[in-house]
Amino acid sequence: MGLFSKKSAICTVCSKETKHKHKPKKEWNMQYPLCADCYMNTMSQYYHGTFKQKCVKCGTEKKITDLWEPRWQWDMEGLLCKSCFDSKEVDFNAKKESCSICGAKMNFFRYNPKSEWKIEGQLCRKCWDLQKEMHR
Ligand SMILES: [Zn+2]
Ligand SMILES: [Zn+2]
Ligand SMILES: [Zn+2]
Repeated sequence: MGLFSKKSAICTVCSKETKHKHKPKKEWNMQYPLCADCYMNTMSQYYHGTFKQKCVKCGTEKKITDLWEPRWQWDMEGLLCKSCFDSKEVDFNAKKESCSICGAKMNFFRYNPKSEWKIEGQLCRKCWDLQKEMHR
């Protein structure tokens, strides 16, 4: 008797008990395990482009073909609808344009923090000077 043969689990989609545990594909954004039915079902929906998923931000359910993958710089999981994607992009660009510490808008002059300061993004001159003082 195999060690795992009798262990059954609950499918995270239909909540039925299943002995055949299937691992959802990463892009499905589903929890392990799936039963054979749900796995096959999702697979075929995905294949036919009718698979629906929720936008991770606003929760609207959309066809996967209408959802956007977040940019890697955003450090997010899941998919976004177009409007959330756009607003995230605006938000992200705005952050990129402003000082990481005081939030002041920066035009031409921006300063990269030294790696030992452990600050992300860029700094205005004032904050950069201040950090330099602090880390002396
Ligand atoms: Zn199931
Ligand atoms: Zn959304
Ligand atoms: Zn600043």
